[in-house]
Order: sequence, then C-alpha cells, then structure tokens
Amino acid sequence: MRLEDRWTVAQWFIAAAFLALLAVAWPFSLRQREAAIELTLQSHASTLALRVADTLSRSTEALHAVASLFMAFDDLRPEAFERFAAGFLQEEPSLLLLEWRPVVPGPERAAFVAQVRAQGRPDFRLWEPDAHDRPIAAKARAEHVPVLYMVSRHPTTDTTGLDLAWSPERMRSKWEARDSGRARVSGFFRVVTGPRGDFSPMGIAITLPVYRAGVVPDTRAARRKALLGYVAGVYDLAALLAPHLDAPKQTKLQVSLADVDGDWVRLIGRGSQAAGWYREERLLVLGREWRLRLGAASKAAIAAPDTAWFLVPIAIAIMGAIVLLFLVLLRRNTRQLVHARDDLARALATVKASEAHLLELSRNDPLTGLFNRRSFLEILDGELCRANRHHFASSLMMLDLDHFKSINDGWGHPVGDRVLMAFADLCIDTTRATDAIARLGGEEFGILLPHTPLATARDVAERLRRRVEALILPMADGERAPKLTVSIGLAGTAQATSVDELLKTADQALYSAKRQGRNRVVVVH
Ligand code: GH3
Ligand code: MG
Ligand code: MG
Repeated sequence: MRLEDRWTVAQWFIAAAFLALLAVAWPFSLRQREAAIELTLQSHASTLALRVADTLSRSTEALHAVASLFMAFDDLRPEAFERFAAGFLQEEPSLLLLEWRPVVPGPERAAFVAQVRAQGRPDFRLWEPDAHDRPIAAKARAEHVPVLYMVSRHPTTDTTGLDLAWSPERMRSKWEARDSGRARVSGFFRVVTGPRGDFSPMGIAITLPVYRAGVVPDTRAARRKALLGYVAGVYDLAALLAPHLDAPKQTKLQVSLADVDGDWVRLIGRGSQAAGWYREERLLVLGREWRLRLGAASKAAIAAPDTAWFLVPIAIAIMGAIVLLFLVLLRRNTRQLVHARDDLARALATVKASEAHLLELSRNDPLTGLFNRRSFLEILDGELCRANRHHFASSLMMLDLDHFKSINDGWGHPVGDRVLMAFADLCIDTTRATDAIARLGGEEFGILLPHTPLATARDVAERLRRRVEALILPMADGERAPKLTVSIGLAGTAQATSVDELLKTADQALYSAKRQGRNRVVVVH
C-alpha cells in the first residue's frame, strides 16, 4: 500500500475509533449525570426532612419552656406574656404566632369575658369568623377555646378572642394533644390572620396541652379534667423549610408537603409541578405523618455535584479533533518530506552524472574520446612498474600523422578534425581491447600494448600504418579526399626504467621514422 493510502486508512480508522468511543461515552455520561441528579435530589430531600423534623422538635422543647413559665405565674398578665413571647419569636424565625388558649366551659363564658375585661382589656370578646371571614360573636358551646394572649410576627395578625372551638379541623390536633398529654401538630391550613389580616401563608400549629401544676395525669379522663389550656405556636411552613435549602444552588427546587392522605401543597418554588424529577421522603412530625417532596421543573435546575461526567464525551470529541488535526498536519509534512526526498534523489543522480562527466573530461580527449596525455602517463607508469617487476615485455607506440598541417591548410580545420576522429577509430579497430590508446596532443597519438613484445608490436604498427594509408575519408560533393599516412616509433618497456625514458625512446624512434621519409615504422632496439 502506498504511504498516502496508508495515511488515509489510518485517519479514517482513528476518526471511526473516536466516533465509536463517543457513541459509548455519550449515553454513559448521560446515565451517570441522571444518576448523579437523582442522588443529589434524594440527598437534598433526606437532609431537608431531617432538618425539618429536628427544627419542629426543638420548637416543641421551646413550647414546653413557655408552658412551664405559665405555670410559674399564678396570674399571668398580658404584658408579661408579650414580653416573654416577643423574645421567643426572635429565636424562631418561622414562628408566626404564639398563643395561650385557656379552655373555658360554656357556663363560665360570661364570667371569663368579664374577668379579662376587668384586667385591662375592655374590648375583649369571644368571636368566630362567618362564611365571609367576617368576625361575629362566637356561638354558645359546651367548651370554648379562645385565644387569650397572642404575639405575632406579622403586624396585621390578630386572633385575640377567636374561639378555636368554632373549627372542628383546627380542634382535632387539640383534642389529640389533650388525650395524649403530648404536643401535637395540626393539619396544614391557611393561617387565620384576624379581622385586619391581609396575609395568610400556609402553616401548621403545634399545640402543647398545659395541666394544673404542670403535671400530666395518667389517664385520659384525668387529663381532660386537669387540662388548663393550650400553648400553641403557629408556623409558616415555607419560612420553616426555606433556611434548610442551601441557597442559591437549590433555589430552583420545588418543595411540597402533604399529609399522608392529604393533597400536595407546594410551599417553595415556581413553575409547573415537577414531572419525573422529584424525590419523596416520609417524616413523622409529632404523631402525624407527612410526605415531603423535592422536585425540579428541569434537570438543569438540579445542581448535581458531579457534572464532570458531562465533560467526558466533550473531552473525547476535542481529543479526537486534535489527534485528527495532528494526523492531517503530519500527513502534509510527510508528503512534503517524500517530495523533498525525491527531489534530493534526482539532484543526487544529476550530481553523479556530472561527476562521471567531469571524470571523463579529466581523463579523456574531448574530440576522439581517447585517453588524454595525463591519464595515459598514469597508465604507462603502472604498466612500466608491473612489466619490469614481473619481467614481461610491453610496447609503446608513438604515432604522428604526416603533413597534417597541409590537410588543415588544404581542406580546412573541420576536415582535419574528422581525419583525427577517423584515425582514432582506426587505432581502436586495429588494436586489442586491452591496449590503451591516447591522443597526446595535436595529431600525435600513443598506444600501449601490454604483454606485447616489440616484434609483435611492430606487426600491429605495420598493419595500422597500412590501414591508414588505405583510408579514404568519405567526402561531400565528389570532393577529393586527403591522402593520409602515419609515422610510428616503437619502444619496449625493457628499454626504460621510467615513463620519461620510455616516452623519449619511442619519440626518438618516431623522429627517426620522420627523418627516414615518413609513412613507416621504426623500432628502437
Ligand atoms: P610532420 O609530417 O612533420 O608531422 O608535419 P605536420 O604538418 O604533421 O606537423 P606539424 O607539427 O608542423 O603540424 C601539426 C598540425 O596539426 C598543426 C596544427 O594546426 C594541427 N593540429 C593540431 N591539433 C589539431 C586539431 O585538434 N585539429 C586539427 N584540425 N588540426 C590540429
Ligand atoms: Mg606533429
Ligand atoms: Mg605530423
């Protein structure tokens, strides 16, 4: 496979691997996130339920303290109650009202009202709300439970004189308190804020029965007899719950409460009722079972502590993009490197070719392609050493074309060049492949015949001379071809100890051939 193709396959493979990873990680992270959200909701709901139960039990303790105080005063006055209760309100931010409600038998109603009026509250009366929540005189009953003293957190709230016996629902928790001899909690109700009220949060009342001398009798009948009245705290449920939600991260949560068999009442949080995203907790509050529901309109509203799972697929996607980008860059660089390598190989080939060319130029004669003088001297040197050491005979032929000048003069320099080339071909043709032929300069040539004694060399020279003599250079337009002859001098390696000496000897033979009339072979013995 080509490198390019391999890159492409690798890229697709890695992209596919990352996509597969993403396909696995995405739903995984969603599941993890939902699990984290559910866990968060669950833990918020449990914590809230615990804190609410804890707060209400502490409030009940406080009501006990109030009851003990009432026991300590023989004749409780409104100022004393208000002073004490105001301090109590300070400590309980969710407490709306604190009330003292005596139990007044029906026949004693008039005497009770007269006594309260005589104690400095001349307007005091027993009242109850009509169908339109307007105050009217309380109906005659076997037992009245009027609010005698009351402090309120809210300025418009006033229930003094309200006969709680008017409302069977509200009385239920009081009867339960009396019969059990313990604090009891009412159902949820809109807090009655009195005739001047314009404020009615959803609330509950905790009622604590108070007995003569603070002693709770053993039997139910005795408890009914000994009951003096009730201390009651009315609580704003939203205010009770809100401090236990750690703002601001849970502010978008909805908190609802219900009696076990009652309807849900949403106390905190706006928006439609949470569908799907809620958790419920059951809690026992002073003998009554409540359901507490923590919900969210959207998943986003729930600040799950560990949302890092959400980052996993994002991190994978980013990593995939980076790796692919890296691969693309790497691929581009590799492509450039491959191109550079090819360029380099081409340049190297060119350099090698020109090197070979230069070597040829330095060793060969450009016109004939034969060895030049310099390389021929090297060859002669090596041959002379070998021949003398191993005692064999090699011969050197010196050749000079006769009257060459006149060919140049008569036919022109280009024809002279052609003659030189034709002569070189003839030399190559006449000698062996192992013989070294050189153009020593102008129209002077040298031929080394290794392992060839002078007698044999002379035959070769003679044959060459004759072929030169017989050579007819092809001419254009029927022009007359120049007549060509060559003079040859021969010397043997045995006659010389150096190249200079060998050349000089062969030269002398050549000179001798020239002097004797040219076109002949002269051997120096
Ligand atoms: P001889 O018989 O005494 O050798 O006479 P010659 O004319 O051959 O000798 P000479 O040395 O006087 O002349 C050699 C001539 O060769 C002179 C020069 O113009 C010519 N020559 C040398 N090199 C070249 C070459 O490369 N091309 C051609 N066309 N002529 C060359
Ligand atoms: Mg010459
Ligand atoms: Mg010549």
